Amino acid sequence: MAVGREEVAAWLEALAAAYEENRGWLTQLDSAIGDADHGANMDRGFRAVRAELARATGHDIAALLKQTAAILIKTVGGASGPLYGTFFLRAGAACAGKTALEPDDVARAFEAGVEGVRQRGKAEVGDKTMVDALAPALIAMREALAKGGDLGAALAAAAAAAESGMRSTVPLQARKGRASYLGPRSVGHQDPGATSAWLLLRAAADAWGGKRAG
Ligand code: ADP
Ligand code: MG
Repeated sequence: MAVGREEVAAWLEALAAAYEENRGWLTQLDSAIGDADHGANMDRGFRAVRAELARATGHDIAALLKQTAAILIKTVGGASGPLYGTFFLRAGAACAGKTALEPDDVARAFEAGVEGVRQRGKAEVGDKTMVDALAPALIAMREALAKGGDLGAALAAAAAAAESGMRSTVPLQARKGRASYLGPRSVGHQDPGATSAWLLLRAAADAWGGKRAG
């Protein structure tokens, strides 16, 4: 299946629902190693995106993603606002001129987004950030497509890799962001941004890949 503007909008709607639903959990995770605002930040940002979506019509995919980026940069705040803003900005730029995304286009857009987050935040895998979920998801997506998998299979693999990446942050000591101020006391807690990144992938798998496996 190719992903059109409607599917992108459906994913953004699903993200708003996911962050609304998981606001308390994300905040709880951020209260252990941060300042207890990650759930509120993501919910506020995607609530604004959803409100804007209800009004927007006729945008192409790149315009929709760039508009999302601008709203997130304006409304999310914290460290994660500019990072997710960059993700959507770069992903949008990678979709320039396209009205439908083939699986390889989806992977290219996701790759551009993840690269943007890495450049902006300068975090590597193992630093206990959202990159710990995003980077393995990108590798899994690429591998699934290279093996001949369809978009649903690629997104399911990416979401599964993001989930294990998210869990892998628990024993790590944070080296980037607010949690790094805690030093060894950041060990033993799941990173909130890796968790919101997993939700982002899971929503894409749900919106574009059919039903969730379990
Ligand atoms: P803040 O830390 O400013 O309160 P949030 O609570 O919204 O912002 O987001 C915290 C999350 O941002 C962290 O859990 C982490 O995943 C992510 N993060 C922080 N700094 C970086 C960075 N330099 N690179 C990648 N992700 C980061
Ligand atoms: Mg915070």
